[in-house]
Amino acid sequence: MSYLPIQQLLKTAPIGTTVTVKGWVRTKRESKNAVFIALNDGSTINNIQVVSEAGQLPEETLKLITTGSCLAITGQLVESQGAGQAVEVKISSVTIYGTADPEKYPLQPKRHSLEFLREIAHLRPRTNTFSAILRIRHALAFAVHQYFNDNGFYYLNTPIITASDAEGAGEMFRVTTLNATKPPLTEDGKVDYSQDFFGRETNLTVSGQLEGELGAMALGKIYTFGPTFRAENSNTTRHLAEFWMIEPEMAFFELEDNMNLAEDFLKTIIRYALQHCADDLAFLDNRLKEEEKTKKKEEQSELGLLEKLQFVISNDFVRLTYTEAIDILINSKPAKKGQFQYEVGWGVDLQSEHERYLVEKHFKKPVILTNYPREIKAFYMKQDTESAVGARGEVFGPTVRAMDVLFPGIGEIIGGSQREDDLDKLTARMHEVGIEPEALWWYLDTRRFGSAPHAGFGLGFERLVLFVTGMGNIRDVIPFPRAPKTAEF
Ligand code: ATP
Ligand code: MG
Ligand code: MG
Ligand code: MG
Repeated sequence: MSYLPIQQLLKTAPIGTTVTVKGWVRTKRESKNAVFIALNDGSTINNIQVVSEAGQLPEETLKLITTGSCLAITGQLVESQGAGQAVEVKISSVTIYGTADPEKYPLQPKRHSLEFLREIAHLRPRTNTFSAILRIRHALAFAVHQYFNDNGFYYLNTPIITASDAEGAGEMFRVTTLNATKPPLTEDGKVDYSQDFFGRETNLTVSGQLEGELGAMALGKIYTFGPTFRAENSNTTRHLAEFWMIEPEMAFFELEDNMNLAEDFLKTIIRYALQHCADDLAFLDNRLKEEEKTKKKEEQSELGLLEKLQFVISNDFVRLTYTEAIDILINSKPAKKGQFQYEVGWGVDLQSEHERYLVEKHFKKPVILTNYPREIKAFYMKQDTESAVGARGEVFGPTVRAMDVLFPGIGEIIGGSQREDDLDKLTARMHEVGIEPEALWWYLDTRRFGSAPHAGFGLGFERLVLFVTGMGNIRDVIPFPRAPKTAEF
C-alpha cells in the first residue's frame, strides 16, 4: 500500500493490509518481548504505534531510532493488544531518513515549558501542543475565507508597503531602500538608513482599512486578510509586532449591520473549529485542565476550553454603549477599592483590565461596546449627531459610531465602526487631528464621487487563535513570533 498520512491511515486503512508510515519518532519503549515506537507525522495529534519483536531489528538500527529521528516504516496494520490505541503497525522494514543525537536534540518526551519552547520556536511545531495549535490556526484561516466567500465578499489584497499611516494606530516600521552589497553611506561612512522608498516616505502597513474602503466603494463587500505591522514596544501577552488582520469592509452597512456581521462571523468560525478540529481541541482542553489544577481554587476558570467555545457560540453577545460601560465600571468593586491599575472615567480609552472585567465578571458573556468618545478613536469614524448622556443626565462629549468586540480572556478582539461618509465632516475632522486632507486625496475621492454609507472592522487573527486554543500568550499561536526579544529568523 502506498504512503498515507497517519491521520488518513488511522481512519481508512483496513486491518491486515501492508502500510507504509513516515514521520518523526516521539518515543521509543523497549520491553522484554518487543520494542514500541510512537511515530507522528504532523497530520494528527494521534501517534501511530509501531511494534517490533525483540531481536527483530539489528541492534545498530535500534540505537539510531531515538526521539526526533525520522523514519519510514512498512508493516502490517493490526489490531493493537495494548490500551491507548485501536491499531498498530507490525514492522517488517524500516528506513532511517535522519537521526537525532539524543544528547543534542532539545525536545525530549516530556512536557516542556512554553517559555523554553519559545526559545526553540524552529522546532516547537514538532510538539503535540504546537502542532495542534498550528492545525487549528490553519482551519480557522480556511474558515475565514470560506465564510466571506459564502457571504458574497471579495478577497482584496491591500499594500503592505504604504505611504499612509491609516490612523496612527501604533508606531510604524519605516521602509528604506538599501542595496545590500553596496549600501548608501553617510558622510562619516556608516550605512545610511534614511533612504526612502523610491523618493517617498513609506511604512509597513498598520491596517489595510483605508484601501479596503476603496474596494468596498466599488465591489460592495470586500475583506483583507494579511500581515500587519506595529512597532509595539510593549511586552504584553496580546500584542505582536507582526500579526495578521482580517478586515471586512461593506458598502451600505451601518453600525448595527456591522455588529451583526461581527457576531455571526465569530460564531461561525468558532463553530467550524469545534466541528473540524475536535481531536486537537480535546487535546488542548485536557492540557488546560491539567494546568488549571496547579492553580489556586479561586483562580481556576469555571469553564473548560470546549465549554467556553460552546458558550460563546450559543449566547447573544451583550451590546451597550461606551457611556453605559463607564457607568458600570465606575460603580464596580475594583473601581471602588482602587484595584484597577488604570482609573476609569468618561473619555479614557479602556484598558484590557476594564474590558475583561465587563466580560468576565459583570456580564459573563462577550460584549460589544459602541459609541466611543470621538477623541479616543480614529478620524474616519462616523460622528454621532448627539453627544452622549450619562445615567444621571450628565452631557458628555461627542461620540462616534465605533464598536469594539470584547472576549473573555482576551479583551478587545475586534475594533470597527461605521465610516464617516460626509466629505465636509471628514475633512473638518482631519484638520482637527492634524491630518492633511491632500495627503489622502485618493481616500477622499470615495466621498467626493458617489459616497455611500459603509462600515467595517478589524479582527486580529492571532487574538482569535488565542481564544480558540485557550493559550495565554500571543507568541504561542503564531509560528514565528515577531515581538521584542524574539529576534530569530
Ligand atoms: P489594543 O487596544 O489591544 O492595542 P487596538 O485598538 O490598538 O488594539 P485596532 O487598531 O483596533 O487595535 O486593530 C484591530 C484589531 O487588531 C484589534 O481589535 C486586535 O484584535 C488586533 N490587534 C491590534 N494590535 C495588535 C497587535 N499588536 N498584535 C496582535 N493583534 C493586534
Ligand atoms: Mg493598540
Ligand atoms: Mg483598543
Ligand atoms: Mg481598537
